[in-house]
Amino acid sequence: PAAPIAAVPVTGTDAHLPVHRIYCVGRNYAAHAREMGGNPEREPPFFFCKPADAVLVAPAGETVSMAYPSATRDLHHEIELVVAIGRAGRDIAVERSLDHVFGYAVGLDMTRRDLQGEAKKLGRPWCIGKGFEESAPIGPIRPAAQCGVGPDTEIVLEVNGATRQKSTIAKLIWNIPEIIEHLSAAWPLAPGDLICAGTPEGVAAVVAGDTLAARVAGV
Ligand code: MN
Repeated sequence: PAAPIAAVPVTGTDAHLPVHRIYCVGRNYAAHAREMGGNPEREPPFFFCKPADAVLVAPAGETVSMAYPSATRDLHHEIELVVAIGRAGRDIAVERSLDHVFGYAVGLDMTRRDLQGEAKKLGRPWCIGKGFEESAPIGPIRPAAQCGVGPDTEIVLEVNGATRQKSTIAKLIWNIPEIIEHLSAAWPLAPGDLICAGTPEGVAAVVAGDTLAARVAGV
């Protein structure tokens, strides 16, 4: 039998958005770029991918379990705003970019930091650090028309009730329209593409038994 198609529920409906690809933006908050020892300047955005079946759906208000992954001793959380693409396009200009957005979700870019660090040092791909089973926990997608995502929108991650990451959408180095412009110049975007917009500072390790609560105001 074939593997199931990953799909994310859409808030307020019985519908699911089948996942096509998962793109992630690297170092898109200056304070996070600094904590990773990178350049906080506005260099062109860069991207990496996770497999679509890395999605782990967490229904709104429910807590789901993620298995601690193999081969790591340093599993990190990265909370991110996730942009769900609803309309195909390539070479999408900033001014038209939001026409291609279906909605937004709250996601986590779970990272095997020790393996990613080793890959960076050796100049190898990040796949092993970023693209593994359940590495993309995600809440339901809220259609864009029902979202209040603006510059002041807060993005917050709590671990066991304590705030670990807190920032705003305004602090993204590359904003959502700019990300879509850059991404669609390199890959044609398709319905069901998910774009993880980047994480703010405060990334850290989690251990088995920790509870993560992720929230983006208005999403
Ligand atoms: Mn990330």
